[in-house]
Amino acid sequence: MLIKSLIKQYEDAKGTFLVPNYYKNFNCKTVHCRDSCCVDWLVTITMDQYFLLHGLDVEKELKNKIDRTFRPFEKPTPLRYAEIVHKLDGDCPLHKSDGFCLLHERCDEAALPMVCRTYPRAIKTNYIYEVSCANSCEKTLELLFENNDPIQFEDMILRFKVYKQETTISSVEKVNYRKVRDIIFSNLANRNFSFKDRIVHVGKLLQKLDLDETANIENLEFKTEDYQLDFDENYGYFMELTDWFIENNKRLAPYLNRIKDLHRGKNFYEIYISNKNHFENLFDNHEIFFEKLLINDLFYRQFPFQNYTNSFYDEFIAIVGTYSFLRFISINLMENKNSLDEYIDILSSFFTVISHSSFDKNIMILFKKMGLVTKDKLGQILQF
Ligand code: SF4
Repeated sequence: MLIKSLIKQYEDAKGTFLVPNYYKNFNCKTVHCRDSCCVDWLVTITMDQYFLLHGLDVEKELKNKIDRTFRPFEKPTPLRYAEIVHKLDGDCPLHKSDGFCLLHERCDEAALPMVCRTYPRAIKTNYIYEVSCANSCEKTLELLFENNDPIQFEDMILRFKVYKQETTISSVEKVNYRKVRDIIFSNLANRNFSFKDRIVHVGKLLQKLDLDETANIENLEFKTEDYQLDFDENYGYFMELTDWFIENNKRLAPYLNRIKDLHRGKNFYEIYISNKNHFENLFDNHEIFFEKLLINDLFYRQFPFQNYTNSFYDEFIAIVGTYSFLRFISINLMENKNSLDEYIDILSSFFTVISHSSFDKNIMILFKKMGLVTKDKLGQILQF
């Protein structure tokens, strides 16, 4: 009965999905994953799912394990009823040593929490059918970095079970969504210009959309702007961001404290330049890395229609914040590191926050508080 009632909350999404071209090659690394998503992730389940799990007809040993794994919240709601209680080492108690899930192995797929069933995929069906993989998964990053070709998007026939949802999005809005995103992603991948110039250009497109969401943004002239870098000023902004995330984000704090230690009592200009040279020599295709990381993340989050901020221009501030902070941490944290795997480990940790929290909204608010709002100021930040 419970399985049936749970299944009623889902519907079949079947048909042509827009996917990035790496998608068809995605396979979970299971036991070979260095930083499994089963470790330390806050996974919550609905009330129906909780009672389904407790009503499963399984052997006593598994039943006890399930009882210990899912703990109801102090103030549960039907949608956010219980959470996974991790073991002392941070792993999920149902995660087996061969990398597979005990629940998945012994029960119907409907017993799995939605996030476990789909991660790292984001299945979107509200505007158009599309699916991609999160940058927080190391396999996604490996696929992104396995060649220097721009990300292409293609159609794929797929079928998923998704939560039933009401949508009030009109067909005109759906067409506009696809058009705007196609233009933004092709501009971000336009390698005739530096990546910084491409971001500024996207800012201009977004400004135009604030005046009219259906404006023609296709033929806006691409221009290279000359922004001056004020190193000391920019360094101050990034240190302020670093302090804020140390205080407010447990996952990022250990990494960011390393950056603080690195600069403590030293000539930060010299350290930064030496780290920047090291990073850029190590990855001479670093600009392509950032291009692919950002496009994949923005596609995943339905940018710029994800409605986290008040205006399209706010979304521009958020991209400048995300890109520049990511570059700042990449340059500093790769000090003394020499491999792509080490870089992927840093990135996947940061993207567990960037792609799965209100990071873009937070960084936009922090930028505004620091007075980094005008196109000139944001262009200057991008030079760091
Ligand atoms: S992070 Fe990605 S590759 Fe690793 S276990 Fe999770 S889905 Fe698999």
